[in-house]
Amino acid sequence: MRQYNPSKRILVTGGAGFLGSHLCDRLIAAGHDVLCVDNFFTGTKRNIEHLLPSPQFELMRHDVTFPLYVEVDEIFNLACPASPIHYQHDPVQTTKTSVHGAINMLGLAKRVRAKILQASTSEVYGDPEIHPQVEQYWGRVNPIGIRSCYDEGKRCAETLFFDYHRQHKLRIKVARIFNTYGPRMHTNDGRVVSNFIVQALRGQDITIYGDGSQTRSFCYVDDLIEAMLRLMATGDDFPGPVNIGNPGEFSMLELAEKVIELTGSRSKLVRMPLPADDPKQRRPDISLAQEHLGGWTPRTQLDEGLGKTIAYFDQLLSGTQAA
Ligand code: NAD
Ligand code: UDP
Repeated sequence: MRQYNPSKRILVTGGAGFLGSHLCDRLIAAGHDVLCVDNFFTGTKRNIEHLLPSPQFELMRHDVTFPLYVEVDEIFNLACPASPIHYQHDPVQTTKTSVHGAINMLGLAKRVRAKILQASTSEVYGDPEIHPQVEQYWGRVNPIGIRSCYDEGKRCAETLFFDYHRQHKLRIKVARIFNTYGPRMHTNDGRVVSNFIVQALRGQDITIYGDGSQTRSFCYVDDLIEAMLRLMATGDDFPGPVNIGNPGEFSMLELAEKVIELTGSRSKLVRMPLPADDPKQRRPDISLAQEHLGGWTPRTQLDEGLGKTIAYFDQLLSGTQAA
């Protein structure tokens, strides 16, 4: 009798990006067939080139704002620029990517009855009055500001996910991801961890936006990917939304000092204007994740994660001028 392969066919949109490429690695290592779909707006082939020789791995250049017809068992929907400078570069396309991208991927999931996970964000809480942020909090988001294309796009995507769940009984998972960092962030990504590390390694001034007292909670990429995989494997009665992040909270000044210390850099801090609508504080309450994700908890402390990320950028910057 013919033996059917227990491995799944899994679609990762945004699979050539920072988080997506690490997710592809884990899925391939677990024996699954992975279809990585990306338009390379912020992702790069370098992030997944080591996977190209694998017969389990397929790469498709495609923009998720257009329909996609493939046969898969699960979908991780990560396609969307995540760094403010990149998502503000073409804000109309950012909203389209979140909203049309969600509609297309949900339509695909409905047609093939696939389970689908949305990479949502702590940005759905906006500049929060509740601290730490719990999933029940509805958020404080400016609908017409420069961050709105991302924040409202992601909020609308969550709405679509829950309406497909209620209306079409689709199996959904919504992960609200808090600031995550690690190797394979782009050197020009623009987010704070990669900015500070690249500036420190190049001996350039470290750019503190505002007075640097605003806080973020930084999760190392391996902890985040582990939680996403566990979330996808939870029962159909747990759609989320669920916060995923590391509750350790740091001001941007504290982060800059840590990066200077760990790199041994002589870089100086310089003040730059605080961008509009920049949230003042952010820390996840991860009780729900800890309850539902089989004992998951973030294990990598900031110093250790920064060390690994610094080593990655150090090698990249010394290896090639073009990086
Ligand atoms: P990233 O910018 O490195 O990756 C996004 C990927 O999506 C890139 O490869 C990009 O080329 C691709 N993409 C963008 N628009 C696309 C489109 N229209 N069609 C196809 N591909 C497209 O960012 P990341 O940090 O890896 O984020 C991945 C996902 O996780 C995003 O949806 C982001 O909103 C979410 N998220 C990330 C963080 C974080 O801290 N890293 C926090 C919250 C949410
Ligand atoms: N930030 C900074 N210097 C930089 C880049 C960012 O001080 O070079 C600040 C930014 O103003 C924000 C925090 O760092 O308060 C996190 O910014 P990031 O773009 O990484 O993510 P987000 O604001 O979306 O959490």
